[in-house]
Amino acid sequence: MTNKELANLIFPNITKTVEDYEKMYPTRDLKEGAVVTRYAPSPTGFVHIGNLLQAVMARKVATQTEGVFFLRIEDTDQERLVENGITNIIRDLNNFNITFDEGMLNETDEKGNYGPYIQSKRKEIYQTFAKELIEKGLAYPCFYTKEELEEIREVQEASKERIGCYGKYAKYRDLPNEMIAEKIENGESYIIRLKSPGNFDKKVIINDLIRGKIEIPENDLDIVIIKKDGLPTYHFAHLVDDHLMKTTHVIRGDEWVSSLPIHVQLFEVFGFKAPKYAHLSPLMKMDGDKKRKISKRKDPEAAVNFYHEVGIPEEAVLLYLMTVANSNFEAWLDANPNGSIDDFNFDFKKVSASGALFDLEKMRNISKNFISRLKAIDVYDRTLTYAKEFDTEFASILEKYKEYSISIFNIEREQKKPRKDYATFKDVKGEVWYMYDEYFTGELNYEYGKINEKEEIQKILSTYFNKYYDVNDDKDTWFNKIKELSSELGYCPDMKEYKVNPDAYKGNVADISTVIRVAVTTKSQTPDLYEILRLLGVDRIKNRISKI
Ligand code: GLU
Repeated sequence: MTNKELANLIFPNITKTVEDYEKMYPTRDLKEGAVVTRYAPSPTGFVHIGNLLQAVMARKVATQTEGVFFLRIEDTDQERLVENGITNIIRDLNNFNITFDEGMLNETDEKGNYGPYIQSKRKEIYQTFAKELIEKGLAYPCFYTKEELEEIREVQEASKERIGCYGKYAKYRDLPNEMIAEKIENGESYIIRLKSPGNFDKKVIINDLIRGKIEIPENDLDIVIIKKDGLPTYHFAHLVDDHLMKTTHVIRGDEWVSSLPIHVQLFEVFGFKAPKYAHLSPLMKMDGDKKRKISKRKDPEAAVNFYHEVGIPEEAVLLYLMTVANSNFEAWLDANPNGSIDDFNFDFKKVSASGALFDLEKMRNISKNFISRLKAIDVYDRTLTYAKEFDTEFASILEKYKEYSISIFNIEREQKKPRKDYATFKDVKGEVWYMYDEYFTGELNYEYGKINEKEEIQKILSTYFNKYYDVNDDKDTWFNKIKELSSELGYCPDMKEYKVNPDAYKGNVADISTVIRVAVTTKSQTPDLYEILRLLGVDRIKNRISKI
């Protein structure tokens, strides 16, 4: 029985050839140096912050080189399917402005000429490639039962041998075709294995774009390429898909480094050019004094949804991730504080090969800077969008007092050194609530400082608002009046003079401002008091101080 006859017995329905597929997936018409890369998740609906980092890099290199970035769904593990898994992944990435040039658009639709972009619809293609290997005597059916494989593993473990199907353990590798056919005809179940041409005593050298030269023993395992259900393993799908889809760069997690010898061997067996590889280390975090991977189970910040829920602007998350991706990005951002990652030149050589420490505080700082540079109207719009999803009461207040709210956000903004009050859109309410009467009710906790007696406070407030305060004053006049008020009540109007002679006064002008500030806001620290008073307006102020 010839190999061809055996191949036909195993795959009677496969009529196309590898050659046919080569024609259906022509070379892409891109300029020299264009990177074709992909994001290839299982459809679990979950995007880990490490995946986002990977997608950011991939999107960036593709854009930067006028290449292609596509989304391929790897659903060969049919047990891990989740409802709306694909749609949720796309939504989460779109939230970070990460879009795909080709690939799945939702659970069923796709765009692009190199599909299908979901592996379960590519069964026939994988089988065509496997069939060709069988025809060439480079793959074979293997009839081990689960129990037999388990036994082999136990033997290998006990004698400290390498685990897997190789050498004397590859029992079906050289079984004559007639005997194979007989077993198949008897209905015995099987999988397809590669007949590995590798030699474990020899080394293969792979140049990883991040890790540099990797030298590992060749693969000599007869790895599974087609499983019982007719679907491929990750290794075989990687070969077939990335070859046909013309992937030039594979950016993926470093858990795949150890399988590299398998992958380069598969490309060699077919005579295909292997893509370039960039293996990323996982993001780490400190747990007590130990470093560990950020975990989906333990850390809320592992899920990219977290950032959306706490209202960190996408741009800030991306800026932060770029500082993790490229070691020179932070310096670049300092030099270009208004820059976006689109203007930065990403370089694989600047990616750290060891796991970066994920620093949420640093992300919050970047976010603070980012929000501080937004225009007031943008802070308004984005806080409103956030509130509509997560705090509808605040959303309706923002909508009711639109112009007033924009003016609040405008305090100490749109200037050279803007104020940095909010790291997230969730923080906003906690910083501005006292500007709205709706929230200025109930038990109010006044943070008075040095001046605490009620009578003194009332005297300061009534003298100030009855005698001095005029909403039409400019800022200098306003401040001079506070100084005058201080003098009148026995407080030093000048801080320098006060330092020299503190005992001559009841206190100083700053104590007076604090009383006014706390009376109208409850807070001892706020943005510019002059602006706050102006915005609150006389009626609101009078109403507030009448309750003290
Ligand atoms: N589906 C694989 C994973 O999620 C993709 C790895 C790759 O990018 O090739 O790990």
